[in-house]
Amino acid sequence: MERTLITGGVGFLGSHLCDYFVRKGHEVICMDNLLTGNMENISHLVGHECFSFIKYDVTEFIYVQGHLDNILHFASPASPIDYLNLPIHTLKVGSLGTHKALGLAKEKKARFLLASTSEVYGDPLVHPQKEDYQGNVDPVNPRGVYDEAKRFAEAITMAYHRSHAIDTRIARIFNTYGPKMRLDDGRALPTFMVQALKGEDLTVFGDGSQTRSFCYISDMVEGIYRLLYSGEHLPVNLGNPEEISIVDFATEIIALTGSKSRITCKPLPSHDPKVRQPDITKAKTLLGWTPKVSRKEGLSKTVDYFKKKISEPLNR
Ligand code: UDP
Repeated sequence: MERTLITGGVGFLGSHLCDYFVRKGHEVICMDNLLTGNMENISHLVGHECFSFIKYDVTEFIYVQGHLDNILHFASPASPIDYLNLPIHTLKVGSLGTHKALGLAKEKKARFLLASTSEVYGDPLVHPQKEDYQGNVDPVNPRGVYDEAKRFAEAITMAYHRSHAIDTRIARIFNTYGPKMRLDDGRALPTFMVQALKGEDLTVFGDGSQTRSFCYISDMVEGIYRLLYSGEHLPVNLGNPEEISIVDFATEIIALTGSKSRITCKPLPSHDPKVRQPDITKAKTLLGWTPKVSRKEGLSKTVDYFKKKISEPLNR
C-alpha cells in the first residue's frame, strides 16, 4: 500500500484528492493548518483506516513518522480574496512551505507533486497559454504575492530535482470547480451560484469580457493522478480549454438556476487577467488525458451542491 501525504488536504482540491487516493487504495495523510480549508470537506474520511489528519502549518519543519511514497503539495490560499487578505501567509507557504515539503520528499525518497497555477502566466500576452510561455507578472502588485509564491515554488522544485535528484512533478492548474468549493471565497463560480440561488444581482467585474476556462474537479483529479505517475519533471498545464467570457458565464448560471437575478457590473480588480485558456497538448500527449466533463454537465452537478449548502441555516 502506498503512503501519500497531501498538504492542504482539507481545501477544495486537496479534499477531493484525499477521497481519490483513498479510493485508489493509498494510505492518505492529510495535513492542513485550516487557515482557509473547511473540515467538513474531509469529515466523512475521519475514522477511515486508510486516512489520518494532522493539523499543521507546513511552513514549519515537517515531521511524518514512517515511509512516504508520495507528497502532493497543495497547501496555499488559492482564491484571489484569500491571497489578497493573507499576502504574507501566501508567500510563506509558497516559499518556506514548499522548501519544507521538498525537504521531507528528500528525507523519505518520495515522489513530489507541486500544485502550481495558471497564475504563473500572470496577465498573459500569449493565448492560449503553453508551458513554454514565461508569463507577464508584476511582482509588486497585490496579486503578485500568489503568482510570485508559485513561481518561486516551481523554481525550488526544479532546483531540488536537479540538485538532489528528487522525483518531482509540477502541475499548472487552471480554474477548477465543483462540489466542496467554499461559498464565500470570492471566486466567480461560488459567488455567482450563491447570488443566483438567492435571487441577488450577479456581480460581474469590469465589463465581463475577460475570459476563463473552467475544469470540472473529477477531470482535474484524474489529470493530477496521471501526472504523478508520469516521468515528467517540467510543468504540465491541467485544465479544460473550453473558454468563456465572465459575463456569458454569469448568464449561463442564471439560466441554469432558473433565477430572476440580473447582472450588475463592479470595478475590475487590479491585474485581473484578461484572458486565460490552457493549451493542454502536452498533457494530452504525455498523460493520454483530456477533460471529459463539459461545462454544462459540470455546472449541473455543481448547482445541486450549492442548493444544498445555501439551505443550511448558517448560509441562509
Ligand atoms: N469575477 C467577477 N465577479 C465576482 C468574482 C469574480 O466578475 O464576483 C471575475 C474576476 O474578476 C475574474 C473572473 O471572474 O475575471 C474569475 O475570477 P475568479 O476569482 O474565479 O478566479 P481567477 O481566475 O481570477 O483566479
